[in-house]
Amino acid sequence: MPQEKLLTITTTILVLWVIMIITLERIIPYRKGLKFFREGFWIDLVWYTLIQSYFLKIFIFDYLIAPVQHHFNWSAIQFVKNWPVAVQVLFFLVTHDLYIYLFHRLQHRSKLLWRTHEAHHSGKEVDFLSGSRSHIVEIIINQTIEFAPIILLGADPAVIPIKALLDAMFGMFIHGNIRVNLGKLKYIINTPELHLWHHANYIEVFHANFATKFAIWDHLLGTAYNPGHAPGNERENWGLGYEYPRDYFLQHAFSVKRFDENKLLKYKWFDRYYNLRPALLSVFFKLWKKDDLKPDAIHQPGISKTILTHQQQEEILQ
Ligand SMILES: [Zn+2]
Ligand SMILES: [Zn+2]
Repeated sequence: MPQEKLLTITTTILVLWVIMIITLERIIPYRKGLKFFREGFWIDLVWYTLIQSYFLKIFIFDYLIAPVQHHFNWSAIQFVKNWPVAVQVLFFLVTHDLYIYLFHRLQHRSKLLWRTHEAHHSGKEVDFLSGSRSHIVEIIINQTIEFAPIILLGADPAVIPIKALLDAMFGMFIHGNIRVNLGKLKYIINTPELHLWHHANYIEVFHANFATKFAIWDHLLGTAYNPGHAPGNERENWGLGYEYPRDYFLQHAFSVKRFDENKLLKYKWFDRYYNLRPALLSVFFKLWKKDDLKPDAIHQPGISKTILTHQQQEEILQ
């Protein structure tokens, strides 16, 4: 199949998938009261989903993988070349997912690697778009390790768009604010139930639910955590137990050097920059309901659990 036709098909499937997940989030929400334009929506959409992924795709494929591909002769190890496309997709899906599970687990153990992962946990309100929020370094490592073998081991060119589509579909599904019951399949396929718990701020789950696509890794390796009810609905029940910058660039700077975002506001240039986006948005939203911009309009009784404080998190990270 020509690559253009395949791209048209994968894009169509993706658009339909987005519509379906957004609709399900309205019909069967996991966390009731979560707004569509929730806290961090625009950062996740504009910076992480559109701008960051556009530039990182060019960087990873053209500046990291392509030079390695052209400088060496890979023909001797291209063992997947003659496999049917479906088998190739399945092979890379399973092997990369196992790698992601192990690397993710490591990110929750190492202080250094946690700096590349905390951005993903920083959202207080998690929905279909939250999966896009990942630190630049995390994406470079994971996507290079994902796509380099596909290219270097001689996979069919169709494998890349199909794999990228499945990544996006799974990413939206497991972060989707939806209540789904897959029956016994939930022990194999990952679900929002397990992954939303992974985004909850509790000690019990800081070292659990690392799976992305296949929950079977968590069940086989003893890291599945599902108490059978949802996390509380208060802000402290979700995301990080410490203050985290709200600005995209400051989020990356924070991974290198800790600082207090609010203290920077005393500088006029920073104050102007920091308030530019909310100012533009408020003009845009004058025609809309302004309430949608308020981050925490959700108040439901929290379920008593052990909230993970910053100090505790520092202690359990090695
Ligand atoms: Zn994590
Ligand atoms: Zn996540």
